[in-house]
Amino acid sequence: MSTTSMHPATSASQNQPADQSQSPALPYARRRDQLVGSVIDASTTVLAQYDHDIVKFGMGAPAPDMLPAADFARIAAQVFSPENFTYGETKGEPVLIDALHEYLTSTDQIPPEQQGNRDRLLITSGGMQGLDLGFKLFVTPGDLVACESPTYTNGSATAMSYEAEILEIPVDEEGMQIDALVDHTRRTGRAPKVIYTVPTFQNPAGVTMSLPRRERLLEFAHRHRSVIIEDNPYGMLRFEGESLPALSDLSPNDPLIFGVRTFSKFVAPGLRVGWIDVDPEVRELAVNAKQTMDSCAPVPNQHLIARWLQEGGADSHVEVLRKAYRERKVAMSEGLARLFPGEVRATDPDGGFFLWVTFEDESINTEDLMTTALEEGVAYIPGPAFSPAGNFSNALRLCFASAAPDRIDDGLQRLRRAVDRYLAE
Ligand code: PMP
Repeated sequence: MSTTSMHPATSASQNQPADQSQSPALPYARRRDQLVGSVIDASTTVLAQYDHDIVKFGMGAPAPDMLPAADFARIAAQVFSPENFTYGETKGEPVLIDALHEYLTSTDQIPPEQQGNRDRLLITSGGMQGLDLGFKLFVTPGDLVACESPTYTNGSATAMSYEAEILEIPVDEEGMQIDALVDHTRRTGRAPKVIYTVPTFQNPAGVTMSLPRRERLLEFAHRHRSVIIEDNPYGMLRFEGESLPALSDLSPNDPLIFGVRTFSKFVAPGLRVGWIDVDPEVRELAVNAKQTMDSCAPVPNQHLIARWLQEGGADSHVEVLRKAYRERKVAMSEGLARLFPGEVRATDPDGGFFLWVTFEDESINTEDLMTTALEEGVAYIPGPAFSPAGNFSNALRLCFASAAPDRIDDGLQRLRRAVDRYLAE
């Protein structure tokens, strides 16, 4: 064997500096290729490269000016104390479970059949961990997971990290098209093991699944014993229209429904606290699974939220949010109609954070448009970020929650200028 054929690993074992460019591949797990990361988060980190003013319609976060900052500062001074800087219980701090149960009961967010049952609740580190727990418990590599199309791809990416095969089911104004789900199952003879849905004020489309479709989805899940991961971060942020029952309200105590909720959208995302509402047997397993992830959700933050709920802070705060988000949604819808007449189709959500905008001109590629938009000073998330297959190249998601109405108008004018420049190039 000549020295020129020496494998780089050999030279490394001889304490020579290893040539990284020629290192053999690391012995990654098979799932390595399924760790696709978050295209949504990647789109927002691009912003850091620009130092001019940008109107941010990208990230789905509540506006910092909408947080109950003074309440938090006052309560933090009380609960950020030595006894809360240690490990907590994996299932969550009992004081938060109690306060949350009380809040959900008093605001009709738990069906009467489930009231009084605290053994269904597990406090998580944000909604993302709830999704991770759900897919971890129910996905074996190769299982089929159905999601909406467009979908919240941080959810579908979590399913992929457990080596799921993803099936995209189209969404229209009434949410997931259950007919398409049924047809696919008939045609292939293979029902999804898990159905991932954001039925209320969907991310990214802002649409809400109609009652008949909710009923059909439940029927489908019962027939095929598919688990439904009902991801519901925005449900309480309804500012228009008639309230619709959650899937978990329509089918109380249903072991097939894995409810994922979070404090991120109506309290604060940086606290990283959420919860799951699941069958007590599933919850026991989820506690075991969570133990090996992070042992417990942030303890001082759980106490902060518990105290805030006990004081009744949520009731008035949620009202403030609803009112502000309604104004912001109206400003965005009207601005789009005025500035892009006949050029775009936009959804008209009754709550939540997002509008989904589709250009009638199919040649507009919103990933390409992004550079010009950022130069003009406006950010959004391009449509393909919401499809594992990369569909929706002529669509984009706008978050109306994080800017005041006049700023929204300013941002849409910048978008108008960007589109004009893009079309002229
Ligand atoms: N699901 C959906 C549909 C979301 O929009 C989000 C937040 N963008 C999450 C889950 C994750 O929530 P959290 O920030 O609490 O992890």
